Amino acid sequence: MPAMPNSGAKPGQSDHRANHFIARRQLILQQRKSLPIASVEKRLVEEVRKNDTLIVVGETGSGKTTQLPQYLHNAGFCQDNKIIGITQPRRVAALTVAKRVAEECNVELGQKVGYSIRFDDMTTAATRIKYMTDGLLVREALLDPHLSKYSIIIVDEAHERTVHTDVLLGLLKNVQYARSKTSTINKNIGKMNDKKNSENKQSQGFVLKPCQTSKLAPLKLIIMSASLDARCFSEYFGGAKAVHVQGRQYPVDILYAYQPEPDYLDATLIAIFQIHLEEGPGDILAFLTGQEEIESVERLIQERIQQLPQENNKITTIPIYSSLPSEQQMNAFKPAPSGFRKVILATNIAETSVTIPGIKYVIDPGLVKARSYNPVTGMESLIIIPTSKAQALQRSGRAGREGPGKCFRLYPESEFIKMADSTVPEIKRCNLSNVVLQLKALGIDDIIGFDFMEKPSRMTIVKSLEQLLLLGALTDDYKLSNPVGVQMARLPLDPMYSKALIVANEFKCLEEMLIVVSMLSVESIFYFPREKLEEARAARKNFSSSEGDHITLVNVYRAAADCLEKGKNANMKEKTMEKTLNKWCRENFINYRSLRHARDIHSQIQGHVQQMGLNILSCGEDMLQFRRCLTAAFFLNAAIRQPDGSYRAMASGQNVQIHPSSVLFRTKTDCIIFNELVRTNQTYVRNLTRIDPLWLPELAPQYYATEG
Ligand code: ADP
Ligand code: MG
Repeated sequence: MPAMPNSGAKPGQSDHRANHFIARRQLILQQRKSLPIASVEKRLVEEVRKNDTLIVVGETGSGKTTQLPQYLHNAGFCQDNKIIGITQPRRVAALTVAKRVAEECNVELGQKVGYSIRFDDMTTAATRIKYMTDGLLVREALLDPHLSKYSIIIVDEAHERTVHTDVLLGLLKNVQYARSKTSTINKNIGKMNDKKNSENKQSQGFVLKPCQTSKLAPLKLIIMSASLDARCFSEYFGGAKAVHVQGRQYPVDILYAYQPEPDYLDATLIAIFQIHLEEGPGDILAFLTGQEEIESVERLIQERIQQLPQENNKITTIPIYSSLPSEQQMNAFKPAPSGFRKVILATNIAETSVTIPGIKYVIDPGLVKARSYNPVTGMESLIIIPTSKAQALQRSGRAGREGPGKCFRLYPESEFIKMADSTVPEIKRCNLSNVVLQLKALGIDDIIGFDFMEKPSRMTIVKSLEQLLLLGALTDDYKLSNPVGVQMARLPLDPMYSKALIVANEFKCLEEMLIVVSMLSVESIFYFPREKLEEARAARKNFSSSEGDHITLVNVYRAAADCLEKGKNANMKEKTMEKTLNKWCRENFINYRSLRHARDIHSQIQGHVQQMGLNILSCGEDMLQFRRCLTAAFFLNAAIRQPDGSYRAMASGQNVQIHPSSVLFRTKTDCIIFNELVRTNQTYVRNLTRIDPLWLPELAPQYYATEG
């Protein structure tokens, strides 16, 4: 337990701190008691006792995520050292909520209350309430198929229907079935014909063997959702009971734009200052589509503030998006300095995942960045699309949590009417290679027969199977290959990136590939502010490689590492070193937050590959070797130059352009491999390297047959 803070303080000071501490505890207690969910604590606990599967629906901010796990813990659901697991679609939510709940429980984070997200584990043997991402729990099932540590699993934000949530729901249904059979099996050990039993299960879509361990109690499942339509979950879980938690919502005035806005970033900026100058006090929440957009609006606000007279320039901006470094994520919850207006720039994470207090004004451009998959070409891309009506309503609802509010929709009402009612589940619009690989690793071979809540198209599944076969993760009869498939499933990365690391081990350039994969796992390392475009371009030249973007990224990473190394040699403190790196990044137009994240990811994957027994060797100056390795890894994404200067993606036949952000933009390279497809009004490829087309049949003969 964290002691009251009095270490080394003078007597008077320590009294003051103790008072502050007591006041804070009282405030938290009061806040908890006043949450809508508090009045139904007893009833919820009873329902969980009575039902193995329960659906809890309640408006955002009613206290579901922070309170229910505590109620269940207090009601004794963690007996025998069992854990209550709560899954979130997003890292930020898992982390910020865990921090909050640890504070509410007055314990140190990582003790009774902890979180675990990809590349960051804050749990110990003492952890009883564990927040995590849904993807992470799927991975845990690889090691512990019956999730035997858990007494209860709460799938939170189920309405978001991320691909991981959907896979998880299917898996949990299996686990629950297997665990419900434990007691019967243990009673009848020896009598039961296991083979027959497993045949029965297959026919119902169940694939997991009942567990043989004694003492494994049935798994309780709670599905939580902010959308009122709980029917689909209830039906999927055989008519499971649904409980509604009343929320509290003040009226929100909805204002529409008269006409569509051509540039939504500009429109957002104008709306922010209009509210700031014309409306009463209250914080602003603006929904943007991603890190890049958030950071560019952040910069524009800072610039514009400087032009305002002093009495009007009291604005603080706070970004919040999934990959934000963890120590910055809690900033959104801190009140603004006195007299300042807080402007939160968020992705759709702030729709329902995190509830930020103090919001009175919402700005909604009506757009969201979403995955989109074309099963014919096998290509996935990120596109910016209109939100659904359900999302628009959630967004405007954020303005009315603490009092009446206003929502500025930056599009005309006629557009709202045209929006789809709800968002298409992600599983229907993404590449499924990762899902298929994980299910295979869990021993689920019949992917098409798997009991998904909503079945992805057969074509998408077949395409993913083909892709995994080509990557060598599956054998010819579509079983997980050993060791390649097994190793790929173990790495918390997209299958193509996992494969790249394994290939790089053979090519003796794993050091370079580790850097590339880490740098590709974050959003934009470079930034190009509109008003300093030339300066930014010149800065990038210092790192540019004529071979392409991958080697350029390696150069940036190494230059940053040198900068830190120098600090270390000069005996700088950790904090000073980070400050120096931050300054270096600004001078070089490199995104410090992205670089930090990439460094975190690097150290985590490094741990994984070391555990796998791979050798982290460098190819030194031999960039030819490294480019050949990139070709062997990313051969599925090769494109060849056409007479008109565009490129044709070889796998899909699709016509693509080199993205202006690439170092190979405007060069006349014959053949490239690329990592990312971006669709705006054109289809662009990003992160490319120049290769020799002859390497393709040589290094990927399974795909590129030699002519003749
Ligand atoms: P729900 O899951 O029903 O949307 P939550 O349990 O997330 O609701 O939130 C309940 C309350 O706790 C909200 O009023 C929210 O503002 C507050 N809260 C949640 N996380 C934090 C945090 N990190 N700091 C301060 N307050 C928080
Ligand atoms: Mg919640």
